[in-house]
Amino acid sequence: MKQLLLAEFIAPMDADVIRDGAILIDNGIIVDVGNGNELREKYPQAVADDLGAAVIVPGLVNAHTHLELSCLSPGDRPDSFCSWILSLQQRMLSISHDPLKIAQLGVDEGVRQCLRYGVTTVGDISQQYHITRPRLAKSQLNVVSYGEAVGLAQRRNRFDELLDGAVQTDLAGAHLRIGVSPHAPYTVDARGYRQALQLAKARKLPLATHLAETSEEAEFLQHQSGPFRRLWQRMGWWQDGVELVKRPPIAAARTLGLLDYPTVLAHVNYCSDDDLVILAHGQASVVYCPRTHRYFGHPPHRWRQMLENKINVVVGTDSCASSPNLNLLDDLRLVHALDPQFSVQRLWQMITLRSAQALQWSGQTGSLTAGKFADLVIFKVQTDDPLRELLENDQEPARVMVAGQWVDNQK
Ligand SMILES: [Zn+2]
Repeated sequence: MKQLLLAEFIAPMDADVIRDGAILIDNGIIVDVGNGNELREKYPQAVADDLGAAVIVPGLVNAHTHLELSCLSPGDRPDSFCSWILSLQQRMLSISHDPLKIAQLGVDEGVRQCLRYGVTTVGDISQQYHITRPRLAKSQLNVVSYGEAVGLAQRRNRFDELLDGAVQTDLAGAHLRIGVSPHAPYTVDARGYRQALQLAKARKLPLATHLAETSEEAEFLQHQSGPFRRLWQRMGWWQDGVELVKRPPIAAARTLGLLDYPTVLAHVNYCSDDDLVILAHGQASVVYCPRTHRYFGHPPHRWRQMLENKINVVVGTDSCASSPNLNLLDDLRLVHALDPQFSVQRLWQMITLRSAQALQWSGQTGSLTAGKFADLVIFKVQTDDPLRELLENDQEPARVMVAGQWVDNQK
């Protein structure tokens, strides 16, 4: 059955907003997008649904989150990133002593929040992928599930095994893609990064990592000292002989080859002018997580300079352990509040088209374009500038559709 959705505004994201527009959907796929009257005439048999004073935007794309942590909450701002890592363990124990149970509850809550807030595609980092993937495969979300591996010092011995599990593709399908994520430069050594990259290249898998998240990361990479070294010692897992990269994080990523691949780099909160040039010459995308960034009190993020340098920088949430929820639009609202003059259309692309490009999934989602999945979000609007209006209020979606099916949203 062909379905024709009409609305006062359609915001395709790869083109200007269409006034009195329509979208034709057939079998879960967008067939046509254009003027409402023209599409009514062109497809007289389609079942029309007029949404009235509303804007239809593409399903939102959250390029960086950890759904399995969705039962956690950020709590008070920690004095340091390392104390936040230590507190994570305590906060998890307060939910359950069974890490599998936490992941199970977390991923279900995460999926529920994504759909409620209009997020239909996620880049999900998962350590408990054997728990999360079967549940994600049954969910309505499009997911790149990056299996996460940690391997440094005494934690090196299980790295190969973790990497192996991370790339198991038996549950992969049209809406679940398998990727790999060496966690971060302070938890994975240089050899581990090279292994992960080699595996990703050989099997053409999406690759993601955390990079330049804190100022302490550079000290650890160059000298193996500072708060991260103390954290490793405190955990009792330090061991001498860890290979030194001897470069700050972004230069190290280039040396390791991570920037010669469409790697998704989460955060990049610390980025010098030289780093901007390095990133501009590479293929990696950056995910700026605004509310998480604010929670940790980092200096202003250089997302505008990144865009000026043609670096694909997009907006994500990170997890509920550092952000109040998975409302991706709230992250974009924060960016808009920080720079109200910046182009609203370009901002929206950072949670749609550009983030789909970061996840290497823009052929199927991220814009309202013929041939892509019918993933879309309806918001009620009152003004003639719907994309700006939605950044300046705190409205939630009225309805969400994934692959042509309306989501039964229980708030
Ligand atoms: Zn993260």
